[in-house]
Amino acid sequence: MSFYVTTPIYYVNGEPHLGHAYSTIAADILARHHRQRGEDVFFLTGTDEHGEPVAQQAEAEGVTPRELGDRLAPRFKEMAAKINASNDFFIRTTDEGHMKRVQEIVQRVYDNGHVYEGMYEGWYCPRCADFKTESELGPNNTCPIHQIPLTREKQKNWFFKLSSFQPALERLYEERPDFVVPDFRRNEALSFIKQGLQDVSLSRPTLKWGVPVPWDTDQVIYVWFDALLNYYTALGYGIEGEDVTEKFWPPFHILAKDILKFHAVYWPAFLMAADIELPKRMFIHGFLLMGGHKMSKSLGNVLDPDEVIAKFGADALRFYCFREVSFGQDGQISPAGFESRYETELADQYGNLANRVLSMIGRYRDGVVPEGDAEAGLAGDLEGAPDRVRALLDDAELTQALEEIWKLVRRLNQYVEETKPWELSKDDAAADRLDSVLYGLAEGLRVTTLLLHAYMPETTGRLLKALQADGASFDNAGFGSRPGGQQIGALEPLFPKR
Ligand SMILES: [Zn+2]
Repeated sequence: MSFYVTTPIYYVNGEPHLGHAYSTIAADILARHHRQRGEDVFFLTGTDEHGEPVAQQAEAEGVTPRELGDRLAPRFKEMAAKINASNDFFIRTTDEGHMKRVQEIVQRVYDNGHVYEGMYEGWYCPRCADFKTESELGPNNTCPIHQIPLTREKQKNWFFKLSSFQPALERLYEERPDFVVPDFRRNEALSFIKQGLQDVSLSRPTLKWGVPVPWDTDQVIYVWFDALLNYYTALGYGIEGEDVTEKFWPPFHILAKDILKFHAVYWPAFLMAADIELPKRMFIHGFLLMGGHKMSKSLGNVLDPDEVIAKFGADALRFYCFREVSFGQDGQISPAGFESRYETELADQYGNLANRVLSMIGRYRDGVVPEGDAEAGLAGDLEGAPDRVRALLDDAELTQALEEIWKLVRRLNQYVEETKPWELSKDDAAADRLDSVLYGLAEGLRVTTLLLHAYMPETTGRLLKALQADGASFDNAGFGSRPGGQQIGALEPLFPKR
């Protein structure tokens, strides 16, 4: 089995921010989860460095576009490292390997008869690097995204015959209802298609910063086609000396709602035109909104990812993003909301559970997990959880899967309160029961931690080590699959109070 997951490539006309981190963390959770399942995984992220907005930004700063990319791409790489992303490759669209392969594919689309020369006239947003159709225009011919007045532009372009793919795209959406998820995003894409597709520019004549059109080198390939093709080109050269396209294609895409049209409409059509298999699926997520700006005592009024990571660690940020806002929807985040989740859920519920279980095994059983069977009531609540998590993550339902895991955390805390091991420990006649209870808790904690591993790799790694649980393979996630007898190791607090 293989699994290929991608983030959008990030545009280098600004610094990385939480929105970029959000997409990358989501893809990383899926990548790590599939590795836990023993699959061969390729996880790709990177930077989009061509096109007019980059050229303009560079000009404004008095540097070349290449210099701007060379300065900003490492910032995005650093961000990926900071949030603990386990990407297998970091693509830059200025890579020679990428540019060469883009030209090959665009040439193939041309040879297949899907490209023609024409004049384009329309409302153009330089910051979107896109012409707007009449229905996409804001009031007084403005860009609804950037709220700037648009100019009417006319230019000679090579056109991609997007309109001729309308029936094929409609069929695709009908035959594969989960090609784009969630459903409401699918409907959005489909209704865009059903409005009637117009051909789109494949090239730009006025710009030099891009990949030259192979048969007309006075033009460069429109930045969106150049960018989208990264998902395909990376497999050709991302692993040195090896082409892994056969092994990993097709991909599972993670992206934000603002680039839905390009991915859900242009991209499949372009792949059809190039005779390339379509993506497995694309999951479209919403925006994290900093609404309200509620102050918090340690983070001020803005949730700055660098600051959060410096103070609380990457795991806490990874957790919060998918816990606070249902993945797929827009939702409010705030420093106060972060702190509250950190204290109540990470420190008090999960961290404290780990601490209590390990210290009770230390105190009552000399630090050795008792051998025995867990009580049926607890086992019943824990069994089946790995399958439910797996099924939800197959659909990239990151928030629902996390809630499924969090039910286990709550259940285990409740079990401690119900069974009161500290009272059982005073009663010699209850020694067997105490063995069962402590075994069940150790096993429950192990399984829960293993399921959380993709979300919070660092802290769960430490806890698994303290539990003497080797590796994080999903095969080991069955409750009761491991007998007792392990010597518990020391554990620093997982989520210290700040
Ligand atoms: Zn715009």
